[in-house]
Amino acid sequence: SSFAELGVMAELCLACEKVGYKAPTGIQKESIPWALKGRDIIGLAQTGSGKTAAFAIPILQALWETPSPLFACVLAPTRELAYQISETFESLGAAIGARSVVIVGGMDMMTQSIALSKKPHIIVCTPGRLQDHMENTKGFSLRTLKYLVMDEADRLLDMDFGPKIEQILKVIPQDRNTYLFSATMTTKVAKLQRASLRNPVKVEV
Ligand code: AMP
Repeated sequence: SSFAELGVMAELCLACEKVGYKAPTGIQKESIPWALKGRDIIGLAQTGSGKTAAFAIPILQALWETPSPLFACVLAPTRELAYQISETFESLGAAIGARSVVIVGGMDMMTQSIALSKKPHIIVCTPGRLQDHMENTKGFSLRTLKYLVMDEADRLLDMDFGPKIEQILKVIPQDRNTYLFSATMTTKVAKLQRASLRNPVKVEV
């Protein structure tokens, strides 16, 4: 099948072609149609499966349909992963004018505050630094958030980001879509799933 057959809009199909995605991967075939229908997703997939585009494409399509600032937030366990995810959003989303920023530790808070004040559509974060901004950056809030992604959830929880994620879940809109991706299904991941997803579709590759 093709991206178009999964329901992906023409501009994004073209963007996939431009970055060299000839056909959707397994996880993309399984999750994109459900995500485009507005369902929450729990995806069991390894790095290398194409999981990033599996969540980026539906988010970008929803953003195109109803553009709004601070539309999506992606939580990642490491800085490196956050940058990779942001690159995927940038390369697939350029054609529709999507703007993303990376909010991770080890970088200047003030520079990040200025970037956030420009209201990007997508923020890709490590949980600790996101929480820092929620507490300390004037005027920053996630009340317009429509999509939350927790990527590599098993690693997020292994790194003890659980309490930070719980705090973030408390202050973001209940009325949102949530995608949780993990390489493994652990007790902790199952608990996070119950706390954050609504009637999710489980996809596995
Ligand atoms: P990920 O699992 O998201 O880290 O993606 C692994 C690699 O696969 C990345 O380099 C992507 O650019 C690439 N990729 C993602 N989707 C596709 C696709 N449909 N066809 C070919 N490569 C892809």
